[in-house]
Amino acid sequence: MTDSDSGSGVGAAPWTCPFCPLLCDTFGVTAAAGAPSLALQGSDCRRAGAGLAQFTPQPAAASPQRDGQACSLEAAIDAAAAILAASRQPLFGGLGTDVAGARALYPLACETGAICDSAQGDVLMHGVRALQDRGRFSTTLAEVHERADLVVCVGADPSERYPLFLERCGIAPADPRLAILVPAEGQDLFDTVALLAAAVEGRAVQGGLPPALAALCERLHAARYAVLVYETGRLPAHGALIIEAINRVVATLNRRTRAAALALAGGEGASAVNDVFTWLSGLPLRSRAGPAGLEHEPLRFGAPRLLADHAVDAVLWVSSFVAQPLPAAPGLPRIVLGHPAMATDDGVFIPVSTPGIGSAGHLFRVDGLVVVPLRPVVADPLPTVAEVVQRLTVAVRARRQGVAA
Ligand code: SF4
Repeated sequence: MTDSDSGSGVGAAPWTCPFCPLLCDTFGVTAAAGAPSLALQGSDCRRAGAGLAQFTPQPAAASPQRDGQACSLEAAIDAAAAILAASRQPLFGGLGTDVAGARALYPLACETGAICDSAQGDVLMHGVRALQDRGRFSTTLAEVHERADLVVCVGADPSERYPLFLERCGIAPADPRLAILVPAEGQDLFDTVALLAAAVEGRAVQGGLPPALAALCERLHAARYAVLVYETGRLPAHGALIIEAINRVVATLNRRTRAAALALAGGEGASAVNDVFTWLSGLPLRSRAGPAGLEHEPLRFGAPRLLADHAVDAVLWVSSFVAQPLPAAPGLPRIVLGHPAMATDDGVFIPVSTPGIGSAGHLFRVDGLVVVPLRPVVADPLPTVAEVVQRLTVAVRARRQGVAA
């Protein structure tokens, strides 16, 4: 817990940063008395700094609201339960929460037949669809750090969005093991990765390979352990095709040496919720447990599409890590479980605690194999998403059974 009176911060007690899926855990947080916001100690990570700037050293004091009017938590949950109990097809969107929040959301989704999609659903589905189609060879941050002798970052240097990724892998910006694969002139990223996949397989390429790709192909074959890193958030529409080409490069190399791919994706709880829903139901997000049983529709169940098509009649939006803009949903009854700064004038708003800031929690790290505990740095009176959703589930069930909640 942060010593906010002395302003000394947690310093010696490492904190796990929840603001990107690298989940760095070697820095501290300072909460100087009178300071406008929390501050990072021991690193200058821009993304963590921006995340902490959304939180004050004082405990959050926001109140639940109904149509912009402050109300008790009980009243807000009752109003939210009335919306969900009356809905014939709700959408659970955003889904910015941790493992416990996701575990609480799944039974409520089953109870209401809700379709569930992350705020990052489009980019999340790139990886999910490529995995469903062909599988993948993945790796961990520790293996990259210890074993990789060639790290190819596809599309761009990842440091812009994942500021400490290279550092976590023990790679300096000028490290000879590092290569950045960008499209050759006149090509897009799909052309470039498809050409590389063909060249690595030893297939003839019409017109010859651009020199930079030929050199990279040689380096990949010479490496003992190559890792191809890509950011799903940078991929264009149909990015799954690029991921499939990356996976082909990796599969070809693995016939005679060792190689893996590592996706940088899944921040703000997207991976945690997708993984939890998958282990509970066998299906990833963009799924529904409805009258027809379990259904998974990676395109049709996208939240933007459902809202644009007026295919849902109520929205439950969850965003506990950052204050993010709400999607336009004119005329739809809306429930928001969010950062205190997301209060809206219409529908039900319940401010919730942020895992890793005001409450404990767990998130999946970017490599998908490690569940990392989060600990709070301020004493937060706000409820967690899990607490609110568990109460909401009880209230919805009671309403459906005709019993006053
Ligand atoms: S790289 Fe990501 S996890 Fe690490 S400190 Fe920065 S925002 Fe936090």
